[in-house]
Amino acid sequence: MLNEQTRTSELKRLRDQHVPRGVSNSHPIFLVRGEGARLWDVDGNEYIDFVGGIGVLNVGHNHPRVVQAIKAQLEQLTHACFQVGMYEPYVRLAERLNGIMPGQGPHKTIFFTTGAEATENAVKIARAATNRPAIVAFRNSFHGRTLMGMSLTGKASPYKQNFGPFAPEIYHAPFPYEYRDWSVERALDGLHDLFAMQVSPERVAAVIIEPVLGEGGFVPAPPDFLHELRRITEQHGILFIADEIQSGFGRTGRMYAIEHSGITPDMVTFAKSVAGGVPLSGVTGHAEIMDAPAPGGLGGTFAGNPLACAAGLAVFEIFDEENLLQRGQELAQGLLTAFQGFQKQYPQIGDVRGIGPMIGLEFVKDPATKEPAPEVVNQIIEQARQEGLLLLKAGLYNNVIRVLVPLVATPRDLEEALSALEKSLAAVLH
Ligand code: PMP
Repeated sequence: MLNEQTRTSELKRLRDQHVPRGVSNSHPIFLVRGEGARLWDVDGNEYIDFVGGIGVLNVGHNHPRVVQAIKAQLEQLTHACFQVGMYEPYVRLAERLNGIMPGQGPHKTIFFTTGAEATENAVKIARAATNRPAIVAFRNSFHGRTLMGMSLTGKASPYKQNFGPFAPEIYHAPFPYEYRDWSVERALDGLHDLFAMQVSPERVAAVIIEPVLGEGGFVPAPPDFLHELRRITEQHGILFIADEIQSGFGRTGRMYAIEHSGITPDMVTFAKSVAGGVPLSGVTGHAEIMDAPAPGGLGGTFAGNPLACAAGLAVFEIFDEENLLQRGQELAQGLLTAFQGFQKQYPQIGDVRGIGPMIGLEFVKDPATKEPAPEVVNQIIEQARQEGLLLLKAGLYNNVIRVLVPLVATPRDLEEALSALEKSLAAVLH
């Protein structure tokens, strides 16, 4: 059970008075410290963090190497703006990102600050490179909260609300989602229909797809689908953008989730875990495509800030030295075994799915009807917090619990977290 929430209540009043409700809070807590997979709040409560600031802390909270790298950079140069004067961490980090891009180079990387900016700029680059206007995104996707990000996103509530009109020339094709009867075949039929009825493929600059849906409920795109999509895009000269903002940086046991399929995208967008908690995003792609926009067309005042690039370089060192991909795979084993056990016990867990440690549990009222059970998910998340475990939901119907635990979680973290989840499931589902 948690401590009394005195400081929390005080700050909550301040929050309600001064901050709009549009930015909602999954957990009514105020955090003061993080380390590894643990967080502490203002009232001294300790939590195991299965959220990682929405997939940002794959190397864990305040990793000493990240902290050290930021401190060292801070004492030298905090900001310069790459468009004004260059600095080494930017080009060194670009070199590292080019090194992990699937497929034959040469590759180039440009940095931004947020994920939404990365997807925006991938679209700009694709249009510049192809001289075509249209973009095909997928239903149930999430690509950000800016005008282009919202327009690309395939979930209306709460992201789109009455924030339109949206950017033109964006089309949505169905995402293959086996559990909800969207087979690979059916999803591909949908894409062909789109090309026949709404936009001819010769007008399409790019498709943008999350190899594993993030906000959409941790649904992996089957390799068959990705291969066929790659074939179709090549056939029509359409660029293939993999949005790896949530699925990248070891979340699925590889640096990029698209690697599991073996296909080569033309561009990858990354953000979140790339810089261990500091805002940084970017786009990597084939040099020829990346060089399409003329000088001055891309950039941003804070884009690729020196502190963020220094942190990004530390993240790469951590992956190498701490064998994080391997650790993520081991973590995945433990999680999957436990979750499949829970599924046997509770028929309301309709589906357990994912790749590596990017795992989601989809809750339904009845496994026969598959009617989504968002209330149950809310109750489990509430209960788990009482037990000291922070969880986050996802999914078109808000009925999925997703796991974004830092890959540095220790066996003890895992054991305690699973025990908290087990108790919460028992309390809510009986
Ligand atoms: N794309 C994907 C796949 C994401 O998961 C997110 C963030 N959840 C974004 C884009 C947008 O990133 P940001 O919130 O940093 O703008």
